[in-house]
Amino acid sequence: MKIKLGELKEGVNRFRFTIPCSQVGLPEEFFKGNLQADIRIDKGGDQLLVRLSAEASGSFTCDRCLELFNRSIEGKIDIVFFPSPRDFDSPPNGEVRWSKPQTSEIDLSGDVREALMLALPSKHLCKEDCRGLCPQCGANLNRESCACRERPVDPRWKGLEELLQKD
Ligand SMILES: [Zn+2]
Ligand SMILES: [Zn+2]
Repeated sequence: MKIKLGELKEGVNRFRFTIPCSQVGLPEEFFKGNLQADIRIDKGGDQLLVRLSAEASGSFTCDRCLELFNRSIEGKIDIVFFPSPRDFDSPPNGEVRWSKPQTSEIDLSGDVREALMLALPSKHLCKEDCRGLCPQCGANLNRESCACRERPVDPRWKGLEELLQKD
Protein backbone atom coordinates (compact mmCIF):
# COMPACT_ATOMS: atom_id res chain seq x y z
CA MET A 1 0.00 0.00 0.00
CA LYS A 2 2.44 2.56 -1.27
CA ILE A 3 1.89 6.22 -1.99
CA LYS A 4 4.26 8.13 -4.20
CA LEU A 5 5.13 11.44 -2.63
CA GLY A 6 5.65 13.06 -6.03
CA GLU A 7 1.98 12.52 -6.82
CA LEU A 8 0.71 14.40 -3.77
CA LYS A 9 -0.63 17.88 -4.26
CA GLU A 10 -0.48 20.60 -1.63
CA GLY A 11 -3.47 20.36 0.69
CA VAL A 12 -5.79 17.40 0.98
CA ASN A 13 -5.24 14.17 -0.93
CA ARG A 14 -7.51 11.16 -0.62
CA PHE A 15 -6.90 7.54 -1.43
CA ARG A 16 -8.95 4.42 -1.09
CA PHE A 17 -7.46 0.95 -1.26
CA THR A 18 -9.28 -2.36 -1.38
CA ILE A 19 -6.78 -5.16 -0.96
CA PRO A 20 -6.65 -8.66 0.51
CA CYS A 21 -6.06 -8.67 4.28
CA SER A 22 -3.20 -11.12 3.79
CA GLN A 23 -1.34 -8.53 1.74
CA VAL A 24 -0.64 -6.38 4.80
CA GLY A 25 0.20 -9.39 6.95
CA LEU A 26 -2.97 -9.59 9.02
CA PRO A 27 -3.37 -12.99 10.70
CA GLU A 28 -5.52 -15.17 8.46
CA GLU A 29 -7.09 -16.93 11.42
CA PHE A 30 -9.09 -13.75 12.07
CA PHE A 31 -9.08 -11.68 8.91
CA LYS A 32 -10.52 -13.03 5.70
CA GLY A 33 -11.23 -11.39 2.39
CA ASN A 34 -10.50 -7.78 1.62
CA LEU A 35 -9.87 -4.77 3.73
CA GLN A 36 -10.74 -1.26 2.80
CA ALA A 37 -8.46 1.59 3.75
CA ASP A 38 -9.34 5.26 3.48
CA ILE A 39 -6.37 7.53 3.61
CA ARG A 40 -6.36 11.27 3.83
CA ILE A 41 -3.06 13.06 3.50
CA ASP A 42 -2.70 16.74 4.28
CA LYS A 43 0.43 17.95 2.63
CA GLY A 44 2.01 21.20 3.73
CA GLY A 45 5.39 21.54 2.07
CA ASP A 46 7.37 18.44 2.96
CA GLN A 47 5.29 17.80 6.03
CA LEU A 48 2.53 15.23 5.83
CA LEU A 49 -0.36 14.48 8.11
CA VAL A 50 -1.73 11.03 7.32
CA ARG A 51 -5.11 10.00 8.65
CA LEU A 52 -5.80 6.42 8.00
CA SER A 53 -8.91 4.42 8.70
CA ALA A 54 -9.31 0.80 7.78
CA GLU A 55 -12.13 -1.68 7.88
CA ALA A 56 -12.10 -5.42 7.46
CA SER A 57 -14.31 -8.36 8.21
CA GLY A 58 -13.03 -10.52 11.00
CA SER A 59 -14.04 -14.07 11.82
CA PHE A 60 -13.95 -15.06 15.48
CA THR A 61 -14.93 -17.80 17.86
CA CYS A 62 -17.27 -16.58 20.57
CA ASP A 63 -15.67 -16.87 24.02
CA ARG A 64 -18.97 -17.91 25.57
CA CYS A 65 -20.79 -20.15 23.09
CA LEU A 66 -17.82 -21.16 20.90
CA GLU A 67 -19.75 -20.42 17.69
CA LEU A 68 -17.96 -18.80 14.78
CA PHE A 69 -19.19 -15.36 13.92
CA ASN A 70 -18.17 -12.46 11.71
CA ARG A 71 -17.94 -8.86 12.65
CA SER A 72 -16.48 -5.83 11.08
CA ILE A 73 -13.33 -4.37 12.63
CA GLU A 74 -12.57 -0.70 12.17
CA GLY A 75 -9.34 0.96 13.16
CA LYS A 76 -7.83 4.39 12.83
CA ILE A 77 -4.35 5.77 13.08
CA ASP A 78 -2.77 9.18 12.51
CA ILE A 79 0.82 9.61 11.47
CA VAL A 80 2.75 12.83 11.02
CA PHE A 81 5.74 12.79 8.71
CA PHE A 82 8.39 15.45 9.14
CA PRO A 83 11.42 15.89 6.91
CA SER A 84 13.82 16.03 9.86
CA PRO A 85 13.85 15.56 13.62
CA ARG A 86 12.78 18.61 15.54
CA ASP A 87 11.56 19.81 18.89
CA PHE A 88 7.92 20.55 19.30
CA ASP A 89 6.32 23.24 21.41
CA SER A 90 3.30 21.03 21.45
CA PRO A 91 3.70 17.55 20.05
CA PRO A 92 1.34 16.80 17.16
CA ASN A 93 -1.49 14.33 17.54
CA GLY A 94 -0.57 10.96 16.23
CA GLU A 95 2.59 9.04 15.70
CA VAL A 96 5.56 11.07 14.49
CA ARG A 97 8.02 9.86 11.85
CA TRP A 98 10.96 11.37 10.11
CA SER A 99 10.97 11.04 6.37
CA LYS A 100 14.40 11.10 4.80
CA PRO A 101 14.97 13.58 1.98
CA GLN A 102 15.44 10.84 -0.61
CA THR A 103 12.16 9.20 0.34
CA SER A 104 10.03 8.95 -2.78
CA GLU A 105 7.14 6.94 -1.42
CA ILE A 106 5.60 5.89 1.88
CA ASP A 107 4.31 2.42 2.55
CA LEU A 108 1.33 2.36 4.89
CA SER A 109 0.81 -1.43 4.92
CA GLY A 110 2.24 -1.80 8.41
CA ASP A 111 0.09 1.05 9.70
CA VAL A 112 -3.08 -0.47 8.29
CA ARG A 113 -2.17 -3.75 9.95
CA GLU A 114 -1.48 -2.01 13.25
CA ALA A 115 -4.72 -0.01 13.15
CA LEU A 116 -6.77 -3.17 12.66
CA MET A 117 -4.84 -5.26 15.17
CA LEU A 118 -5.27 -2.57 17.85
CA ALA A 119 -8.99 -2.50 17.13
CA LEU A 120 -9.39 -6.20 17.87
CA PRO A 121 -11.47 -6.61 21.01
CA SER A 122 -9.80 -8.50 23.86
CA LYS A 123 -12.99 -10.48 24.33
CA HIS A 124 -14.92 -11.98 21.45
CA LEU A 125 -18.65 -12.21 21.94
CA CYS A 126 -21.01 -13.14 19.10
CA LYS A 127 -23.45 -10.69 20.68
CA GLU A 128 -23.40 -8.60 23.82
CA ASP A 129 -25.94 -10.80 25.61
CA CYS A 130 -24.69 -14.18 24.39
CA ARG A 131 -26.03 -16.76 26.82
CA GLY A 132 -23.19 -19.17 26.27
CA LEU A 133 -23.20 -22.89 26.83
CA CYS A 134 -24.85 -24.74 29.64
CA PRO A 135 -22.04 -25.73 32.00
CA GLN A 136 -23.76 -29.04 32.66
CA CYS A 137 -24.89 -30.39 29.29
CA GLY A 138 -23.12 -28.06 26.86
CA ALA A 139 -26.31 -26.92 25.09
CA ASN A 140 -26.02 -23.61 23.28
CA LEU A 141 -28.42 -21.51 25.33
CA ASN A 142 -28.86 -18.99 22.52
CA ARG A 143 -30.65 -21.65 20.50
CA GLU A 144 -32.19 -24.00 22.98
CA SER A 145 -32.99 -24.30 26.61
CA CYS A 146 -32.03 -27.43 28.41
CA ALA A 147 -33.50 -29.36 31.27
CA CYS A 148 -30.57 -28.55 33.57
CA ARG A 149 -31.83 -25.00 34.00
CA GLU A 150 -35.16 -26.14 35.35
CA ARG A 151 -33.60 -28.43 37.88
CA PRO A 152 -35.52 -28.34 41.13
CA VAL A 153 -33.81 -26.79 44.10
CA ASP A 154 -31.94 -29.35 46.16
CA PRO A 155 -34.31 -30.28 48.98
CA ARG A 156 -31.51 -29.78 51.52
CA TRP A 157 -31.55 -26.05 50.68
CA LYS A 158 -35.30 -25.74 50.68
CA GLY A 159 -35.54 -24.75 54.30
CA LEU A 160 -32.84 -22.10 53.89
CA GLU A 161 -34.54 -20.70 50.82
CA GLU A 162 -37.85 -20.36 52.62
CA LEU A 163 -36.09 -18.58 55.45
CA LEU A 164 -34.48 -16.14 53.04
CA GLN A 165 -37.75 -15.40 51.32
CA LYS A 166 -39.45 -14.46 54.57
CA ASP A 167 -38.16 -10.90 54.91
ZN1 LIG B 1 -21.75 -16.47 21.69
ZN1 LIG C 1 -27.94 -28.05 30.29
